Amino acid sequence: MQNSIIGHQQIIEQLQRTVASGRIAGAYLFVGAAGVGKETVARYFAQLIICQQEAQPPTVCGTCLACRKVDSGNHPDLQFIRPEGSLLKIGQIRELQRQVIYEPLEASRKIYILTDVDRMNLEAENCLLKTLEEPPAASVLILLTSNAQALLPTTRSRCQILQFHPMPTQELAAILVERYSVAPEQATALAIASGGSVGTVLTQLEKGDSLAEKVPEILRETDRLAAFRLAEDFKNNPETIGELVTWYRDLLFLQQGAPNELITHIYSLEELRAIVPYYSHLRIQQAIQTIFDTKSLLENTNTNATLALEVMCLKLLKTS
Ligand SMILES: [Zn+2]
Repeated sequence: MQNSIIGHQQIIEQLQRTVASGRIAGAYLFVGAAGVGKETVARYFAQLIICQQEAQPPTVCGTCLACRKVDSGNHPDLQFIRPEGSLLKIGQIRELQRQVIYEPLEASRKIYILTDVDRMNLEAENCLLKTLEEPPAASVLILLTSNAQALLPTTRSRCQILQFHPMPTQELAAILVERYSVAPEQATALAIASGGSVGTVLTQLEKGDSLAEKVPEILRETDRLAAFRLAEDFKNNPETIGELVTWYRDLLFLQQGAPNELITHIYSLEELRAIVPYYSHLRIQQAIQTIFDTKSLLENTNTNATLALEVMCLKLLKTS
């Protein structure tokens, strides 16, 4: 059976070779932006190991009992460990350690997929490190993160690291047209807006609201009090911070009279045109810089997120 995963073909082939050779490492670290496909590929890797059908190269048959158990989320040797609330808690790691020492029940390995491993405090990470240092022979840990720098160097060095890259937007747009019957113009807009992240695009398609994007309030807001409310929104939806840049970039393009193909939020074109006159070239550049600076602060330091976002919003507010 052909795999239905979009993109990441080299990684898939590498994992197939790994399973064929039987030299599966004890721990992997999948690194890449949110929505880029890490979890989809991790699940596929697990299924490659678990699938009972013998094939060369190894594939996921999708029909054997083991595959069906994976698909329904009921395979006893595959477990997902996700943050409870905002953190992966030490209790979750201890529970993993209690279980991992037992032999697998049905498959050749016990597989644990840990999502968002950057969301662990030091205590939990040190605890996990013990398992990474001496992984039981019949276990595989697959760690997923969008921020590998937040992990201890020793954690990273214990894992085989696979880097996930966003898809070229043209390639992604072509797939949207082909497999999902999206209109070409919309496909391009979606692909660009997602930064080449397949998961983000598919979520948007599912929600069906890809055409009804709303211009972020901060582009129009003048009330300084609103900055605090907007900062809170950004804190709760951190993915919207990066997206914000694409809106300012559109303003910049419109100001320069760039052709429509370059506009990301093409369906908000009229609204954006109405906003452009309120912005100087310099102010847009400063806004983009402010967003990048804030993102970098949040990702690379222990800065107080609320405070940093409030400062960002105050700087972005219209001054009129
Ligand atoms: Zn199978």
